[in-house]
Amino acid sequence: MQSQTLKSQTLHQTVSRIKEKRRQMADRPRFGPAGVPPLFKIRGAQLPDVPRLLREEGLDAFEYEAVQWGQKPQIKQQNAESLRIEAKKNDVLLSMHGSYYLNLSGKKEIVEASKRRLIACATAAQWMGAYVVVFHTGFYGRLEKVYALKTCIAALKDTVETMKTLGIQNVKLGPETMGKVSQVGTLDEILSICEEVEQTQIVIDWSHMHARYQGKFRKTEDFRGVIEEVERRLGTEITRNVHCHFSKIEYTDKGERRHHILDESRYGPDFQMLAEVLLEFKIRPVIICETPILDIDALKMRDIFRNTQEKRPSLLR
Ligand SMILES: [Zn+2]
Repeated sequence: MQSQTLKSQTLHQTVSRIKEKRRQMADRPRFGPAGVPPLFKIRGAQLPDVPRLLREEGLDAFEYEAVQWGQKPQIKQQNAESLRIEAKKNDVLLSMHGSYYLNLSGKKEIVEASKRRLIACATAAQWMGAYVVVFHTGFYGRLEKVYALKTCIAALKDTVETMKTLGIQNVKLGPETMGKVSQVGTLDEILSICEEVEQTQIVIDWSHMHARYQGKFRKTEDFRGVIEEVERRLGTEITRNVHCHFSKIEYTDKGERRHHILDESRYGPDFQMLAEVLLEFKIRPVIICETPILDIDALKMRDIFRNTQEKRPSLLR
C-alpha cells in the first residue's frame, strides 16, 4: 500500500516536472519586446501591469531587462513574484536579459565578478519565472580566440554549478550570438558553449550576425544555413525552441552600430525571409523585438509570420 502511494507520488512529481518544462518552452511561436515599451511607461504602467498590457496588444512574450545590474538582484523578490503571477495569468512567457557588465574571458577578478552578476540575474529570473537569462559572453581582448572561448566555457561551467547548489533549476543561461568582431560570440562559439555547458539555451540574435558579417543575410538560404547548422550540432528539439532577437541593424567594418525599426528598408536583415525559414523547419521560436519601437515592431513581426503561414501552408513540413 505504502509503495503504491509512493509510486503515485513519484508519478505525480514526474508529470508536474514535465508540465513545468513544457510551460517554460515556447508551446507556439511567441513574440514580445525587449523591455517595457515606451508608451507603457508614459501611461504610468508598473512592472506587474506589463503582461496584461502586452496580452491586450496581442503579444505573448516579454524580456525583462536586467542589463544595468551589478552583483545583487536589483528587484525585490516580492515584485519579481508579482510579475511571475501576472505573466502566468496573461499567458506571457518571460525571459531576462542579463547584465551588460560581463566579461567571462577577461582577467581573473573580472571573470569572478561577472559570474556573481550572472548568478544575481539567475536568482531573480527564478523568482519571476523567466526561463532563460540571455547574456553577452565577453571580449577576446589580447587573448587568442580559442583561449578566450575556453576561459568563457570554464567560467560558465562554474556558474552552472553554483546555480545548482543554490537550487536554480528552472533557469537556463542563454549565450547570444554577438554583433561586434571584438566579442566572443560567433555562431560556432555559441554552439560550442551550448554543447559543452549544461543548462544553456542558444540565443540567436539575427541582427548581430548580420552586422558581424557585413550583411550576412541576403537570401532565404542564408537563414536556412544557420538553422541547419544549429540543428546539426544541437539537435531538432533544441532548434525548434530557439530564442531569437531581431531588429534592423546598421553596421561598420567592426560590426554592429545601431538598431533600427522594421520599416527602414535600407537596413537588413529581412524578417520575411526569416519567417519563411522558421516555418519551413516547424520552429516555435520566441522572438524578442529589439528595435526602438519594441512592441509595435513585435506585432509587425507576428503579423508577417502569421501571413506567411496563411499564404504558404506548404512551408509547414
Ligand atoms: Zn543582447
